[in-house]
Amino acid sequence: MPDQTIIPVPSFRGLHLVAGHPALDLVNSVKYRGQADPQDRLVDYQAVVAWARVAGILDIAEEAVLARLDGGEVWQKVLELRESLWALLNREQVSKAAGAKAQKAIETAISGLRYKAVIDSDTGVLRQVIAVNTAKDLLARIVDSIADLLTRRQDLLIKTCDGCDCDWLFVDRTKARRRRWCDTKTCGNLARVRAHREKHQTTEQSHAG
Ligand SMILES: [Zn+2]
Repeated sequence: MPDQTIIPVPSFRGLHLVAGHPALDLVNSVKYRGQADPQDRLVDYQAVVAWARVAGILDIAEEAVLARLDGGEVWQKVLELRESLWALLNREQVSKAAGAKAQKAIETAISGLRYKAVIDSDTGVLRQVIAVNTAKDLLARIVDSIADLLTRRQDLLIKTCDGCDCDWLFVDRTKARRRRWCDTKTCGNLARVRAHREKHQTTEQSHAG
C-alpha cells in the first residue's frame, strides 16, 4: 500500500477523507448512514476504483488497470464489507447476532488474503504485497487495509465525530488526544455556530424574562 502520509486531506466527490486511515475513510464513504437520505459516494465499481486511488489504496497505474475492467460483483462485496466493518466498529449499536456476523465476514475476508513476497535486492527487506491485476484485487487491497486497521486497533485511538447527525470515524493523532470532529471545517464549524446561537438565544431569553 502506498504511503498515506504524503497526501494532505484528499477529497472524493465532495467528501473529505479525514479519517486518518483508508479503512475508516471507507466506512465514512456514506454520509448520514441509517438516516432518511443516506448519501453513498460508492455508487458503482468505477466509483470504488476512483475512491481507492484518492484514499491511497491504489496508485495511478493500478487505477488505470482496474478502471478498464468490469467489477459489478466486486462493488457489491466492497459495500458488504464496508457495512460489516461499520458494525464491527459500532458493536454497541447493533444486535449481538449482527456484530457476530460482521466479525465473521471480516475474518473470512482477511483469511482469504494472499500476499506476494517481494524482497528488495538492495536492502534485503521483505515486503508482502497484493498485486493488482483483476477487479478482485481491488477488493483484496481494501481487505488488506481493514486488516491493517484491526491489527493496530489498540494503538489507534479511533473515535466517532461529536457532530450532530455525523457518525464518521477517525483516528485521533493529536498530541492532547482531544480531537472531537471528523472535520473542523464542517462538523466543528457547525458546532461552533450552534453553540454561539444557543448562547445568543439564552442571553435574549434572559433579557426578555
Ligand atoms: Zn462529523
